[in-house]
Amino acid sequence: PINPGQQKELAKSNKLANVCYDIRGPVLQRARQMEDEGQRIIKLNIGNPGVFGLDVPEEMMQDVMRNMSKAGVYTDSKGLFEPRKSIMHYTQSKHIAGVTVDDIIIGNGVSELIVMAMQGLLNNGDQVLVPMPDYPLWTAAVTLAGGTARHYLCDEATGWLPDLKDMEAKITANTRGIVVINPNNPTGALYPRETLEGIIEIARHHGLVIFADEIYDKVLFDGNEHTSIASLADDVLFVTFNGLSKNYRACGYRAGWMILSGEKKHAKDYIEGLNMLASMRLCANVPGQLAIQTALGGYQSIDDLVAPEGRLCKQRDVAYDLLTAIPGVTCTKPAAAMYLFPRLDPEIYPIEDDQQFILDLLLEEKVLLVQGTGFNWHTPDHFRVVFLPNVDDLTEAIHRIARFLENYRKK
Ligand code: PLP
Repeated sequence: PINPGQQKELAKSNKLANVCYDIRGPVLQRARQMEDEGQRIIKLNIGNPGVFGLDVPEEMMQDVMRNMSKAGVYTDSKGLFEPRKSIMHYTQSKHIAGVTVDDIIIGNGVSELIVMAMQGLLNNGDQVLVPMPDYPLWTAAVTLAGGTARHYLCDEATGWLPDLKDMEAKITANTRGIVVINPNNPTGALYPRETLEGIIEIARHHGLVIFADEIYDKVLFDGNEHTSIASLADDVLFVTFNGLSKNYRACGYRAGWMILSGEKKHAKDYIEGLNMLASMRLCANVPGQLAIQTALGGYQSIDDLVAPEGRLCKQRDVAYDLLTAIPGVTCTKPAAAMYLFPRLDPEIYPIEDDQQFILDLLLEEKVLLVQGTGFNWHTPDHFRVVFLPNVDDLTEAIHRIARFLENYRKK
């Protein structure tokens, strides 16, 4: 028996040692505290459309409510047949060949499936190529599964396209897969076909799985079109992720899916592992599953919002124009998604700790952003702006950022 005075601190598992998720990190905690004290913070930190009045399409809500009486039971662990069938049809519209209902697993958002895909594949010491900057859940999920994320550069000079030379240079005997986030969070980049073909060539040559996170594939500006990387080859294994959170503004429904396609013949054991992991959590939440068929089948998408006169497109333009008018701030105009990832010229803003910089901005100006290093960016000279708030809030927030930066320059 332990004497009460000798009780040890309960430590978290070593597996969490390198897991970081700054989007919901310490600066957010401070912002919450300030809100509790009655202060109003303008939040440009999380891609949560519903918070900014971008609601779930009415028809999806109605169908979930209408079917709620069926939602009290476990489903097949991969998900209900009808939504999986509609996802299969979606893969056909994106020219991903050879996908059957059996190749689709529905999850509680893409987040759960990213963790599952990594847990099912990696042994301790395995490596996965993850973009830099990244959506940090990918790095965290690789780490939690015992692997190591090796970050390949996305190059700002080319509009944030993956640097294929750097990608290939990071491959070792332990590399198992490449993560491709397209359209990209946090940069807003949309990859051209040649880049995707270059990535496939690398994966083919080194026998790697491609994990394609395409959760923003309908949030496209300026008439851009999205190409699913899995549509470009059948001799590489692809795991493609998508869901309702962004295209259909239904983050809280926790409905996402992953699709296996391409070289499945030599992946039977991995696929069995994924099925086992899906069974362990019994099934994804059923109300969320009930929205999928309606979303994919009807006129529910985000098209009106991203059109030239649409709300999201206008907000992107305003945010881009105002940010790039600040001295020493440059930015690639996002072709897709809901984020800007501006650069602060280090000659003008010699920032050493960008988390502190973001915290100071919060305390002084009541604007909440996420620092670039929170996306595993290697230098403290970027931050991410979510352009979901309306034009008035965005304008006010960026004026405050400009004022903060002006004072910073004077210091
Ligand atoms: N992947 C990317 C690139 C994201 O930006 C997000 C959420 O912001 C997710 C995955 C997680 O999505 P979900 O809500 O489906 O878990």
